[in-house]
Amino acid sequence: MPVSTIPPVLNQDSRKSAAANSAVAKPKGASILAAEKEQSPSLNYLLGTLSAAEMAPLMEHLELVTLRLGDMLYEPNTQLHYAYFPTSAIVSLHYVTASGASSEISGVGNEGMVGISLFTGGNTTPSSAMVHTSGYAYRLERSQLKAEFNRHGQLQQILLRYTQALITQVSQTAACNRHHSVEQQLSRWLLLTLDRITSGEFVLTQELVANMLGVRRESVTAAAASLQGIGCISYRRGHISVINRKNLEQCACECYAVVRKETQRLLGAI
Ligand SMILES: [Zn+2]
Repeated sequence: MPVSTIPPVLNQDSRKSAAANSAVAKPKGASILAAEKEQSPSLNYLLGTLSAAEMAPLMEHLELVTLRLGDMLYEPNTQLHYAYFPTSAIVSLHYVTASGASSEISGVGNEGMVGISLFTGGNTTPSSAMVHTSGYAYRLERSQLKAEFNRHGQLQQILLRYTQALITQVSQTAACNRHHSVEQQLSRWLLLTLDRITSGEFVLTQELVANMLGVRRESVTAAAASLQGIGCISYRRGHISVINRKNLEQCACECYAVVRKETQRLLGAI
């Protein structure tokens, strides 16, 4: 089972205009169509835990959408219209300060869902949700999510457990950013992202990672060089490949293991 992630945050200029909840697109090239055929709601862990009977009323309302790098799913203090259940995309929940600096709060991949405020009752958050790894997700309109949640069935149960897992991730991110080195934070993020993708290689810029961690780009450069020097990763022209996961785990702080263990405990028990 994939576990939670600490994904990156793009800089302000690279963000696409938000028309958030309607900005997702569905290009129809041949390769895209083939990829869509391979998608299934069950690729999202939360939806995959639901029985056939629980999934049946959801199926007609779930809509497969393409999420592209930089798409904003929601912005601060705006009403969410959809909940998103990623199958291959990764979404970054982050906060942008008044001065324009940003820092990631948490990430959501195929283990989770974007839009918990829809069922907790708050409806909006001061943070934003932006796609940092392109891919697919299923979305569910706000009223449908609320209706299903309020049926007090399996979906409610798994979403409440996921919320606790998300709180763990947010809490651990706060502690990590304060107490652990950039090299440890970068290692943690790479491992968590690796858990959510299938290729073993991701494309990212130093600026993107710097914004994610809330540190200077030079610090990311130094940390990536260090990890490459000891054979954990290969880094070239914005492409990072993890070449020795075991070593990378040893370079990470305990935060990676804490988040993974707690996510597995909470979601694996359903
Ligand atoms: Zn840490």
